[in-house]
Amino acid sequence: MKKILIVGAGLFGSIYASEAAKKGYQVKVIEKRDHIAGNIYTKEVEGIQFHQYGAHIFHTSEKKIWNYINQFAEFNRYTNSPVANYKGEMYNLPFNMNTFNKLWGVITPDEAKAKIEEQRAVLNGKEPENLEEQAISLVGKDIYEKLIKDYTEKQWGRPCTELPAFIIKRLPVRFTYDNNYFNDRFQGIPIGGYTQIVEKMLDHPNIEVHLNTDFFADKERYEREADKVVYTGMIDQYYEFKYGELEYRSLRFEHEVLDQENYQGNAVINYTDSETAFTRIIEHKHFEYGTQEKTIITREYPADWTRDNEPYYPINDKKNNEMYRKYAKEARNQDKIIFGGRLGMYQYFDMDKVIGAALYSASKNL
Ligand code: FAD
Ligand code: UDP
Repeated sequence: MKKILIVGAGLFGSIYASEAAKKGYQVKVIEKRDHIAGNIYTKEVEGIQFHQYGAHIFHTSEKKIWNYINQFAEFNRYTNSPVANYKGEMYNLPFNMNTFNKLWGVITPDEAKAKIEEQRAVLNGKEPENLEEQAISLVGKDIYEKLIKDYTEKQWGRPCTELPAFIIKRLPVRFTYDNNYFNDRFQGIPIGGYTQIVEKMLDHPNIEVHLNTDFFADKERYEREADKVVYTGMIDQYYEFKYGELEYRSLRFEHEVLDQENYQGNAVINYTDSETAFTRIIEHKHFEYGTQEKTIITREYPADWTRDNEPYYPINDKKNNEMYRKYAKEARNQDKIIFGGRLGMYQYFDMDKVIGAALYSASKNL
């Protein structure tokens, strides 16, 4: 039996473990945290599915990926529709006719387009080169100033003029009265949470899982004992930072159980001003239409990344991407180790993209 070692029991590693076990590999998964599922980990608290590492809403345009994830859980009909709180003014997200109407009093799509066109003039027809220019080009100056600039600068810890444009393109801009945050065909929250999905992936007689186990505590031995290694940690750490440290953005989560039924009336409220230190408050029960007597909220504070906290977001600007390419080149030149996931591939992947990448890599390499 061929032996495969999986470093990290997050979504990427667990899909790989499941595919390898089905193909007859003997699979060992090591995970440095004390639980499986990585950042999609959820657990039940006060009868509510609690997302420990921030809100996770599943969405995809690909039927194949939707069918794949639905093998492991049934999904509810949750549609993400965050609301932005700018100094007490409430605006619907993503940017759509409800937002434009509240901000400018415009009624029709043509009126909204004309307003944005007028506000875009400051760019003088220039191709957007950074997040600020991209945002103004998409939605105009007013929305940029009230709903984007301060939120983004808090989230990423640097000016919008120094951030890549692609980050803001994650959000739809729509000239309909539709508050759905995603354009994807399929969307929902797994009934019973995400952890069960990963549990089922790892539930196979060929798979053993070791928690509280850091790969770097005994790297040489782990590698020697396996025929193949799938590594889903930070790629720069694997190579001992030889080309330099890639940058990440971290978060601090402040959780609170409240003795009230409904705190904010929505699952996600973004705070888009600069005075509020957190970016958003998540009220977990609203992901599943909960009617419990208590509620749980999480305030999300962006933080600088250091080697002592979690690297939640890769910072895919030019400088970091160039450094990443050096690591990736080195990774391509050997075939025993496969690098995967948000940290192993240094990409701002959502869950659906992680599933696509893991299934593709497993089909090619196993
Ligand atoms: P991870 O979940 O990070 O798993 C990697 C695992 O490897 C971790 O458990 C880690 O502890 C372990 N590990 C690392 N190094 C070592 C080591 N040396 N030894 C042993 N173990 C190690 N996606 C969506 O689709 N929808 C959303 O709404 C959404 N919201 C998000 C909100 C937040 C705040 C964040 C941070 C992400 C969000 N995502 C969302 C993205 C989603 O979390 C990722 O796509 C997914 O979790 C990535 O899976 P992964 O396996 O690549 O990484
Ligand atoms: N964003 C913003 N205002 C908001 C919400 C998002 O300016 O109210 C910007 C911000 O730059 C953020 C990006 O859009 O980093 C992507 O937002 P998304 O909700 O996709 O971020 P994630 O859930 O990955 O943190």
